[in-house]
Parts: sequence; C-alpha cells; structure tokens
Amino acid sequence: MNVERTLSIIKPDGIEKDLIGEIFRRFEGAKLRIVAAKMLKLSQEQANQFYFVHREKSFYADLVSYMTSGPVMVQVLEGEGAIEKNRLIMGATDPAEADPGTIRSDFAESIERNIVHGSDGPLTAAEEIRFFFSEEDICLRRP
Ligand code: GDP
Repeated sequence: MNVERTLSIIKPDGIEKDLIGEIFRRFEGAKLRIVAAKMLKLSQEQANQFYFVHREKSFYADLVSYMTSGPVMVQVLEGEGAIEKNRLIMGATDPAEADPGTIRSDFAESIERNIVHGSDGPLTAAEEIRFFFSEEDICLRRP
C-alpha cells in the first residue's frame, strides 16, 4: 500500500470534550503519524469554503455555524493507506451507524456533531491539506 497523507480535523465538540490526546493516541496507535498540526478558529468564510461541496444541502448553514462555534485542531496524517485508515478509525458519518470502537461511535452525539473530519479520497486530501498548510509546514519524519 502507498504512503499517503490525509487531512484530519478535530471539530469543536471534540475540543470541548477534551479529546485531543485520546484522538491523537488512536492515530499514532494505528501508525498514522502527525506531520503537521495547528489549532485555530475557523472564520465563517473559511467554513463556507471548506464545506462548499455541501452548499445545496439543508444542513449547510447549521454545519457552518457548528464548525465556527469554537476552536478546531487540524492535522496532516501520514502513513500507509492513510486516507482509508483514518476513515475506518473515525467511523460512519452518523454515530448510530458507526462501528463500535470508532471515534464517532465512542464519542459523537449526532450526525452533525460527530467529533472528527477526514478527507474522503486522494484528490480531496490534497486539496484539503493545501487549504490549511503550505508544503513548508509539513515535517518530514523518518520512516
Ligand atoms: P463525512 O465525510 O463523514 O464527514 O460526511 P459528509 O462529507 O457527508 O458530511 C460533512 C459533515 O456534514 C459531516 O461530518 C457532518 O458534520 C455534517 N452532516 C452530514 N450529513 C448530515 C445530515 O444529514 N445532517 C446534519 N445536520 N449534518 C450532517
């Protein structure tokens, strides 16, 4: 399998619940290395742009308001099959449908307030990483 990079976000509810350490531990335990990370508060404009693909959905305004309601932690994860591996660790979008032991099954309250974001494919991963980080922000780690 190829070494890939993916974008992960701990959303405002994950920060509020003090889950940064727990979630990072799960990434590292699964050999997903954190190669860049920062905490920030998304502006309305950033959240609108990041979720532009969902602009026609009924939940778009709520989603933007939730994502701007508090700080988020944004990180680049690197590892073999990182995109799919991160999606497996996160679990399904709706926590009621997420497998036991996944982040969303263990901690999420609802389909909206679902603790984490993870890129869903190679193109979106590259785009989403560029949205938050420049190439110089990403640290090269020894294999
Ligand atoms: P993800 O890739 O699993 O995060 O899911 P999507 O890309 O489909 O949706 C993006 C985000 O929008 C999700 O993580 C949720 O926070 C939110 N969302 C998705 N579907 C719904 C929905 O039906 N209702 C509400 N309120 N929020 C949703």
